[in-house]
Amino acid sequence: MSVAPDESSVRVALRIRPQLAKEKIEGCHICTYVMPGEPQVVLGKDKAFTYDHVFDMDSQQDAIYTHCTESLIDGCLEGYNATIFAYGQTGSGKTYTMGTGFNVEEDDPGIIPRAVNHLFKGIEERRQAATEQGKPVPEFKINAQFLELYNEEVLDLFDSTRDIEARKQRSNVKIHEDANGGIYTVGVTTRTVTSAAEMIQCLKLGALCRTTASTQMNVQSSRSHAIFTIHLCQVRVCSPDNDDNVTDNRLANDSDINEFETLTAKFHFVDLAGSERLKRTGATGDRAKEGISINCGLLALGNVISALGDRSKRSTHVPYRDSKLTRLLQDSLGGNSQTVMIACISPSDRDFMETLNTLKYANRAR
Ligand code: ADP
Ligand code: MG
Repeated sequence: MSVAPDESSVRVALRIRPQLAKEKIEGCHICTYVMPGEPQVVLGKDKAFTYDHVFDMDSQQDAIYTHCTESLIDGCLEGYNATIFAYGQTGSGKTYTMGTGFNVEEDDPGIIPRAVNHLFKGIEERRQAATEQGKPVPEFKINAQFLELYNEEVLDLFDSTRDIEARKQRSNVKIHEDANGGIYTVGVTTRTVTSAAEMIQCLKLGALCRTTASTQMNVQSSRSHAIFTIHLCQVRVCSPDNDDNVTDNRLANDSDINEFETLTAKFHFVDLAGSERLKRTGATGDRAKEGISINCGLLALGNVISALGDRSKRSTHVPYRDSKLTRLLQDSLGGNSQTVMIACISPSDRDFMETLNTLKYANRAR
């Protein structure tokens, strides 16, 4: 699944997690079947769906990374924005796949830690190549933000205040759009980092904060969207073939002197709220409100993504403003950005209906 920036902007992958011990013990049957050699899954007897990629139960973290993310990181180093989502019901493997847990899979990490390592490796390679060619070494500035969207409320996961009420009151995050259509936030902690290890440490602290916050609020973190964002700013010598998609910032124009360009890109990693229908969890009161509101984010995202896939709508109206989630991601979905949705499902028959919903949702994105 190599994603060239000028191709159709949304790619969809499906990942089926293995059965959990509990499901095996309780005698759940496997109700998914992947066609050998085809990116197609059959649910139950005859519900067939085709995606850009289908990863069966035995797929490994590194394969998901290589097929779904690596080229997006390479794109970021060339100035293209990217977004990757994990979608699916609670327990389907979103956090495992994305690597957004604070204590999960140290030895077999998910997407984010791998992406961070790849990014810093790419940076080092570019510095070395410039040195070897006797050119000015490109300069990089990398920073990260980590937000949680909850009930259309934005929480800053890098805010170290322990007390959740204090944090909520203080949280005054605003989402704005600049004259070029770029989206930026105000009131969000930005951590500047200089190494992969430092970035991964930030990720862990934020993930821990997410868990603590949800415990304090007496809610499940599965009801919120977690968005980890890497901003990359690069100042480098122009090469003749990379003139397009450049934020114009030529420092010199003399043919003897190097011309410089500034490239900026951001990469959003989104661990979406559980997609399960509210009635199944039997929620009432506050919980119900949460559920409805979260569904509003997922609903808006589904509408945006299907509008992007529909050429007739793409040029007219893409409903980004319908939720904070889509608003925040506006400049990183569609256009020149690269978007990958990973739909995560359980193979067990007890999850049949939720799995069918996920397969249908993911199908709209194509
Ligand atoms: P979600 O974030 O969608 O609620 P999790 O990522 O927390 O789901 O996964 C639920 C459980 O399944 C966890 O115990 C996780 O370790 C396990 N799991 C998920 N995907 C896999 C996988 N591909 N291989 C092994 N275990 C997995
Ligand atoms: Mg999760």
